[in-house]
Amino acid sequence: MNHLDDDAELHALGLTSPERAAEIEAHITECDACRARVVAAEAVAASLAATLPPIPVAAPSRRPWWPALATAAAVIFAFAGVIEGNAARTADRETRRTSVALTAIASSHFSHATLVSERSVVAKALYARNGAWCYIIATGGPVGAHVVVHRGAAARDAGVMGPGAPSTLFIQDLGWADEVDVVAGGRVVAHGKLVY
Ligand SMILES: [Zn+2]
Repeated sequence: MNHLDDDAELHALGLTSPERAAEIEAHITECDACRARVVAAEAVAASLAATLPPIPVAAPSRRPWWPALATAAAVIFAFAGVIEGNAARTADRETRRTSVALTAIASSHFSHATLVSERSVVAKALYARNGAWCYIIATGGPVGAHVVVHRGAAARDAGVMGPGAPSTLFIQDLGWADEVDVVAGGRVVAHGKLVY
């Protein structure tokens, strides 16, 4: 069996199939590197779980993907709250939290788009198929870039990309935006369309 990829984080979140989970457990008994990765992911998942508010039981949704999306969103919101609330955390821990958050997103129903960008910039958008949220990930972009979202003729500033590498921004209230721009120094450095 090959080393684990993102399955390490998915496994820590309990999102792998029983068959895959058994393979992973077998692999990490003999692979120190992958065991360390799973242990780190489990620690992050546990700390995230401890900070999550209970998900309110609202009117039941007929859409089968909603529980996964709600869980992913709750993880992300908790992630954002922790980021704001605790400036003392190390960069390494932030990276691992981001990784877990991303794999949580990946387990829900989303689409992704690679933005057309300047040569030094690589930017992607992961966005919910229900138009609710979008996660922008960029490398090589200028620090302090803003994300502007468009819906038809309306445009609004959705916030500033985080300082990490990669730089990210989670947009909680996407509102079915159909285009995104990453803007730095008054110039659009990455652009893409969101198709639902
Ligand atoms: Zn391994």
